[in-house]
Amino acid sequence: MENMTWNQKVVKKNNKALVLQIIREKEQISRADIAQVSGLNKATVSLLVSELLEEELTFESGPGVSSGGRRPVILHFNKEAGYTIGVDIGVNYVLCVLTDLKGTIIIEKNQLVNRTPYSGIISIIQDMIQSLINEMPSSKYGVVGIGVGVPGIVNKEGTVLLAPNLGWTNIQLKTDLERLFHIPVIIENEAKAGAVGEQQFGSGQDFQNIIYISAGIGIGVGIIFNNQLYQGKNGFSGEMGHMIIQMDGKQCNCGSKGCWEAYASEHALLAMADEKIESLESLIKLAENGDQTSKEIFKKTGNYLGYGISNIINTFNPDQVIIGNRLALAKEWMEESIQTTIAHHTLAFHKNEMQLDFAKYSKHSTVLGVSAFVVENFLKGEAKISLSELN
Ligand SMILES: [Zn+2]
Repeated sequence: MENMTWNQKVVKKNNKALVLQIIREKEQISRADIAQVSGLNKATVSLLVSELLEEELTFESGPGVSSGGRRPVILHFNKEAGYTIGVDIGVNYVLCVLTDLKGTIIIEKNQLVNRTPYSGIISIIQDMIQSLINEMPSSKYGVVGIGVGVPGIVNKEGTVLLAPNLGWTNIQLKTDLERLFHIPVIIENEAKAGAVGEQQFGSGQDFQNIIYISAGIGIGVGIIFNNQLYQGKNGFSGEMGHMIIQMDGKQCNCGSKGCWEAYASEHALLAMADEKIESLESLIKLAENGDQTSKEIFKKTGNYLGYGISNIINTFNPDQVIIGNRLALAKEWMEESIQTTIAHHTLAFHKNEMQLDFAKYSKHSTVLGVSAFVVENFLKGEAKISLSELN
């Protein structure tokens, strides 16, 4: 690129990113078809593809189907050129996965935790990430990034400003993990990440305007608006777990009273159950065995979820609402009461053609979402203009 102007180099980098994106999206495509789809000339496409082959982001396979002439060589995205690590920090668990560059989970580690302070959690995460790195297959780029979903408010610098259910304030999570691993780290609110995970890989693939409700120990919401994650001014959108559904109601961990999550979360559900019942899973087991009390508790929680969802539907007029995270496991016991409440309390115009679904990946939506952010960030970086090259 020595004899190119700055402008020519920028154009070339952008074209290369475009070619790579086409190969990723089409899964398999010939050079001629890339030229047609992108509008670039064939010589340019060939040059850019040869660079992508050298960088091992693409590979070739045998001749494809001929349309009359010589059969073309087919290009594929090399999803094994590197790996991502996705972490979901729950209130009572830490989930870590290793994925390829297409979001396939290769290895998974899950650990239950109980009111562990940050110093304990960070060392658990460190061990889990290290063991994923140790077990990772060899590849050109290794771990291209670590993505972490957190149930709290995260700023653009990757600091967890507040996670009421973890008891965290001002935790420098990105800085701490980058210092430990020297790999780019992305921190995102778990509900926003879950929304993107479901949009890209799960229940949300056919919709443009999606409200993803992460119903776990707390409740968070991810808003996909015209196919884009809606962040808000500082990235703090979606704290609908703290919309107030009862005046002077139950105390919430955020300090306020009557918040939606004080009624409709896993925490609220377990508070209604007999104190001997310690987990959502055991309550589901009881319902499956015909226990009426457990069924009533799920029904009531479903009603509370439905009230909040009605408010959300009336506000956003979405194509789809997805219920995700842990409470999605109890779909069978809550779906009817959620639907009934929505039917009674949502404006008729808003209900029309509105789809209510449960997350396809339930507890994996968030790790898939943060891994997708990591892949985007890595591929953007690969195509970005390096200053040394420009000088
Ligand atoms: Zn609250």
